[in-house]
Amino acid sequence: DAAPETRSFEADVSKLLHLMVHSVYSDKDVFLRELVSNAADACEKLRYEAVAKPELLGDDPRARITVTFDPDQRQLTVEDNGIGMSADEMTEALGTIARSGTKAFMDQFAAGKDREGSQLIGQFGVGFYSAFMVADKVDVTSRRAGSEEAAAWSSDGLGTYTIREAEPETAPARGTRVLLHLKEDAADYAQRFSVERKIKAQSGHVPVPIFLREKPDAEPDQIADGAALWTRSKSEISEEEYTDFYRTNAGQFDAPALTLHYRAEGTHEYNVLAFVPKTKPFDLFDPERTGRMKLYVRRVFITGEAQILPRYLRFVRGLVDSQDLPLNVSREMIQESPVLAAIQKGVTNRLLSEFDKLAQTDEERYLKIWESFGAVLKEGLYEDYARRETLLGLTRFKSTAGNDWRTLKDYAAGLKENQTAIYYAVGTDLDRLASSPQLEGFRARGVEVLLLTDQVDSFWASSGVDFEGKPFKSVTQGLSDLSLIPLPDGEQTAAETSREVASFIDFVKEALGDAVSDVRASERLTESAVCLVAPDAGMDRQLERLLANAGQ
Ligand code: ADP
Ligand code: MG
Repeated sequence: DAAPETRSFEADVSKLLHLMVHSVYSDKDVFLRELVSNAADACEKLRYEAVAKPELLGDDPRARITVTFDPDQRQLTVEDNGIGMSADEMTEALGTIARSGTKAFMDQFAAGKDREGSQLIGQFGVGFYSAFMVADKVDVTSRRAGSEEAAAWSSDGLGTYTIREAEPETAPARGTRVLLHLKEDAADYAQRFSVERKIKAQSGHVPVPIFLREKPDAEPDQIADGAALWTRSKSEISEEEYTDFYRTNAGQFDAPALTLHYRAEGTHEYNVLAFVPKTKPFDLFDPERTGRMKLYVRRVFITGEAQILPRYLRFVRGLVDSQDLPLNVSREMIQESPVLAAIQKGVTNRLLSEFDKLAQTDEERYLKIWESFGAVLKEGLYEDYARRETLLGLTRFKSTAGNDWRTLKDYAAGLKENQTAIYYAVGTDLDRLASSPQLEGFRARGVEVLLLTDQVDSFWASSGVDFEGKPFKSVTQGLSDLSLIPLPDGEQTAAETSREVASFIDFVKEALGDAVSDVRASERLTESAVCLVAPDAGMDRQLERLLANAGQ
């Protein structure tokens, strides 16, 4: 037997563990969900590999998770007969954090409050390490499916871990055993009542059956049946069950803002279970962030990487389970498959129409979703030309018409005589934008101006969009059409004032010289003396600033 080898955790892991060990959580239960979810993932990975290599299943084809509690030893074990890990895989998986964003996690984690901290764990995929919230020592023993060898990993979470070959008799025949030596104040996790209740509540709907037993030699009882929730009929599923599933399967900690569960029939058959989260993930605008919809084929997990939804729906979590895709298709081939293309189209359309329905029936709930994810949805306005009209209908705006969110229909209903465009102003700060002198002429005429403050706004708004035949036009872009729109009685614009203005303009032009391309009396000012505008053919000023920031 080789001697154990002691290694140091990657610096980031050490820091992370330090935070896990020392932060006081109100919600320590999450570790159990993380371990069960890893065990279920491992079973699903094996199911997938076994499609091509059925011999991996040997004489034990049924996936199972076994949880063992031992009150006398104050121990809790989560064991699966899934894919398992080799010693190298263990070093990689349990000694590093193979994800970008870990630094960002720790900054938020250290700064954030308790509640936020526990919400962050799942998002950042630091699940396994959460075991150290309740254990002062963790032993992992594992055997990769199809391998003779087994390996053992052990750590107290204080900076180092050991890794060694395991005696074959002590290792699982296949899969992974995670043994927690519970801290004194976590003794509850070695009691049947507590463990059973928590697992049923948090993980009752993982697609692998879960068994529970007291001590390793006792007969286990099944406490969760592993029936995939999404294959059951909607009417039999309670809201709590959906929420549990959302938390375990999608690794979320809040409750969904919207749940969509349906079965598509016809040319292609598939089940969809999708959730819109309540809270915004930290990395929503990370360019590397991909969608979070998992792909299953006839209940076999295939990949979390398939692009099932367009990028502007990357906040949606959940899964699609296809009846038609071949199980043995490679993950790379799937992306090219026409079946996937049909699924993408179907699910995207359905989600958008679901948003629309919600906007009609429960505006308040829809606006909550809009406030979290509107800035992402708007990316679709220039990325998904075919659905632009639908997306414009879903878009909500702040405007000079008041504090409420406005739709383009609202805007269109308030068009003034001779108004031929939809006017918008782009900026970074709503209050500042609302008080900009650029808007005075519009205000004076009662012409509504949309106030756009998201990064994406400069892109889509200047990309030639129109609504009901009216083009979008920036207020900063050249002389607008205000002279055609009548002022209410008794008000004057600068252009209507005397000839003295003309000679004053000549004077200003001379004084400023090449610094400006033109000086004009303006229809748009009623109170301020001057404002800067971009030439008609020029770039919108906000876009110009954005490109300048991006180094263009
Ligand atoms: P995540 O599950 O998001 O990848 P975790 O911290 O929960 O992150 O787990 C890290 C990695 O450790 C997993 O990706 C997996 O490779 C490995 N792992 C953890 N638990 C198991 C298990 N029971 N069986 C096989 N591999 C596991
Ligand atoms: Mg995990």
